[in-house]
Amino acid sequence: MPDLRKRWDPGADGSNILKTKRGINIKLKKRSVLRKVNRNREVADVEAVDNQAQPVQPAQESADSERLGAFVLPGDPIGTTEEFRAGAQTYENAGSICATATGTVKINDKDRTISVIPSTSTPPVLKRGDVVIGQVTGLRESLVLVAIAGVKGVIDRAIPDVGPSVIHVSNIKNAYVKDISREFGLFDIVKARITDLKNMRLDTSEPELGVMKAFCSKCRTAMTGNGSKLVCPECKQVETRKTSTDYGTGII
Ligand SMILES: [Zn+2]
Repeated sequence: MPDLRKRWDPGADGSNILKTKRGINIKLKKRSVLRKVNRNREVADVEAVDNQAQPVQPAQESADSERLGAFVLPGDPIGTTEEFRAGAQTYENAGSICATATGTVKINDKDRTISVIPSTSTPPVLKRGDVVIGQVTGLRESLVLVAIAGVKGVIDRAIPDVGPSVIHVSNIKNAYVKDISREFGLFDIVKARITDLKNMRLDTSEPELGVMKAFCSKCRTAMTGNGSKLVCPECKQVETRKTSTDYGTGII
């Protein structure tokens, strides 16, 4: 026993065993330090990977989920409701999604929305259902041509040039129209609702829609009156119109 103790007692005689033991200890120590370092490095590496992954991933995600498409004009079909959900500056029409603005198509693949980034944000964007103010520029057998001058609510701003809009004879009022010239006159100021943006179709069948200001067909004087019967204060000409309930009030 004393021999054994002597043999294993560190520093008792400077034996190989001690050295070996120390060596093993050192080795172990070194190994454990190394292992610790490696573990730390691994942790650090993992952290580095994590740190790298975190900022990169969302950036990739947003870059991948959104893409830009064609340059489009108002009314242009840009997708279908089967493929996409209608986003900003678009409207749905019979399964199609159409642009309401001039601009660039943006597709978000993540939430499946399709939208249009307007190329200019100054003119108000016309939407289906908007009430617009315009002037009659022409009368046809079954059509009234209207140049839109403004949108209700944003009347002081310029509107995009959408070309002539049309009130079909069937959309003038909730009654049969025999003679379109008994409902509208050239240069009349009208208030109408947009029912079809693609073809710029308007409707005046609601009571507050229709002619806001009529001009005598003989002398071009603004006519007065209420209801559908109007009188020219100058030449006493009597004419009829599909008038708005706001006729002559200037209320838009
Ligand atoms: Zn007159």
